[in-house]
Amino acid sequence: MSAILSGKGIHSGYDGVKVLWGVDIDIPEGKSVVLLGPNGAGKTTLLRTLVGLLPAWSGSITFHGRDITAEPTEKRIRGGMAFMSEQGVFPDLSVLDNLRMGGYFLKGRDMETRIKRMYELFPDLLRQRRSLAGSLSGGQRKMLGVAKALMSEPSLLVMDEPSAGLSPKYVKEVIEILGVAHAEGLSLLIAEQNVLFLQQADYGFVLEGGRIVTHGDADELGSSDAVRRAYFGVRDGHLGEASA
Ligand code: ATP
Repeated sequence: MSAILSGKGIHSGYDGVKVLWGVDIDIPEGKSVVLLGPNGAGKTTLLRTLVGLLPAWSGSITFHGRDITAEPTEKRIRGGMAFMSEQGVFPDLSVLDNLRMGGYFLKGRDMETRIKRMYELFPDLLRQRRSLAGSLSGGQRKMLGVAKALMSEPSLLVMDEPSAGLSPKYVKEVIEILGVAHAEGLSLLIAEQNVLFLQQADYGFVLEGGRIVTHGDADELGSSDAVRRAYFGVRDGHLGEASA
């Protein structure tokens, strides 16, 4: 199966400090891929490089088979990539305005149709459409972040730690909603420390110290005691604090 997004030999970092040391990663078309790894492994740095918010120092990135290594983020987004950062929303804008920002280059009627679709997927957002995003609960804010990212009808959604700051109940809801989006054909790349995200994934990569140390089918990675013990505080098959 062909890759929708592919990074080859990526080196990147900040102000001369190298964080990524030759990362190879493929997201197969229509699949959901989780990028696992401990704090400081370089997950955010890799996502930011793949979406063009940080330059790749060397290596190449292709999207839909096209070399986008030097392309600005906006062009990648127009090409079908969406990025949800940990923050995810504009707190000083209303729910509705956040959705509009997410679909800023859709034409009028397309914008309205898409907003309706988001309200179907996330009924809480319809009820709260006039509220400021900053006044929502952590879970609702995350849902708005996902909806905002989906507004542009992306073919690939890249997400940075959607579980950050969420209670287990909302983590479950986010995983469910990603499952729905995935079933509709969306490809996903999700950086996470929460092993539960393997449930909705097809494939996983583990990043440590800026290098991919293992990768494989989500089922295999999920049942690999070595990976679980090493990265997620899991002991004897029980999920530890880090997974909640
Ligand atoms: P976390 O889950 O804690 O966000 P991560 O796997 O996403 O971890 P990164 O945020 O990519 O890791 O950080 C990788 C390394 O890069 C860390 O050593 C971090 O201190 C460093 N780093 C991150 N952002 C910057 C920055 N803006 N300037 C300089 N160094 C940075």
